[in-house]
Amino acid sequence: MTRLELDGVTKVFGDPEKDGVVAVDELDISVPDGDFLVLLGPSGCGKTTTLRMIGGLEDPTAGEVKFDGTVVNDVKARNRDVAMVFQDFALYPHMTVRENLGFGLKREDNDMSGAEIEDRVTEVAEMLEIEELLNNKPGQLSGGQQQRVALGRAIIREPRMFLFDEPLANLDAQLRKTMRTEIDELQSEVDITSAYVTHNQEEAMTIADQIAILNHGQLQQLGTPDEVFNEPANRFVAQFVGSPNMNLFDATVEERGDAYRVETDAASFDIPERLVDTEIATDEVLVGFRPQDLSQARGRNRTVTGPTFDAEIRVIEPVGTEAVVHGDSSFGDVTAKIGGFHDLTAGAKLPLTIAPEHIYLFDAQT
Ligand code: ADP
Ligand code: MG
Repeated sequence: MTRLELDGVTKVFGDPEKDGVVAVDELDISVPDGDFLVLLGPSGCGKTTTLRMIGGLEDPTAGEVKFDGTVVNDVKARNRDVAMVFQDFALYPHMTVRENLGFGLKREDNDMSGAEIEDRVTEVAEMLEIEELLNNKPGQLSGGQQQRVALGRAIIREPRMFLFDEPLANLDAQLRKTMRTEIDELQSEVDITSAYVTHNQEEAMTIADQIAILNHGQLQQLGTPDEVFNEPANRFVAQFVGSPNMNLFDATVEERGDAYRVETDAASFDIPERLVDTEIATDEVLVGFRPQDLSQARGRNRTVTGPTFDAEIRVIEPVGTEAVVHGDSSFGDVTAKIGGFHDLTAGAKLPLTIAPEHIYLFDAQT
């Protein structure tokens, strides 16, 4: 059990004075004991570099990595007692599953007897449901089975921390979902602090206690899945989290007596109460709404409380009982995820509305 802290952790590759690349830029993150942290962001944003600094495979250029309040910058990787799982599994091809699992225990300076090691291997194999495979070699296993063995090798030592770098990237979509649930369950069961790298926001949302969203090496927001989805700190987070992407439109804000009014090309409305305190540096803002929060402004039992506008339907993509509809509006391109789409056709006019409680505002400059 370990509390993990990053204090101003920075990594510059190359010469900082000349053409150095700032891969990680003054990262401050704190992860409570037993929590599951996900590092989320687009390719090249510094996720792997951050994970490698936590694991001791990369030295920070500045800042401190702390385990339980103790700076570990100078502690070598093999002495940090962390277990890492990578996307390429990294199993020993010439060893059986049993040998792959037991290897880490044998190599360590521990007092475990052969029988104790065997017991522990069996216990972990049962936990991961790979008992039947113990005598097989990695080449005889499917991708999902290999990844289970890789996980088994990580948990067998009961390390103080797990580090995962896109461990499911090489698995097909279906298996990825099953395995992420298993990793989630496994981690809650053993209750070991974990840091998990992915560029997949859906994976991050389902598995994380806390998500750290990175862009260009900088922390955009640290929060629970609920917080980053419902209270995105800026436009980057708003667009990176959630699917389909949030709609964003340019607008200006004007003071009108006690209220602030948002003016866009398509509609104008008072700033909803909950957004009045949004920090906005200029009067240039972005108005956002999620496709799921738009609804048809027509039909029976519709009470329209917020801005309403028309979209000319371009494409309708059915997804089960709902459809993702792309259209052109006086805002510009708009995406809506709505039910009751069966009578809609491309080219038709679709009146849409957004409830005030689902409107977001962002500073256009950040
Ligand atoms: P991510 O895992 O989010 O895709 P990385 O941490 O791998 O991103 O990389 C962050 C940035 O640092 C990228 O611009 C990458 O090209 C650069 N980088 C990573 N490793 C090295 C290295 N060993 N030498 C030079 N640049 C590197
Ligand atoms: Mg990476």
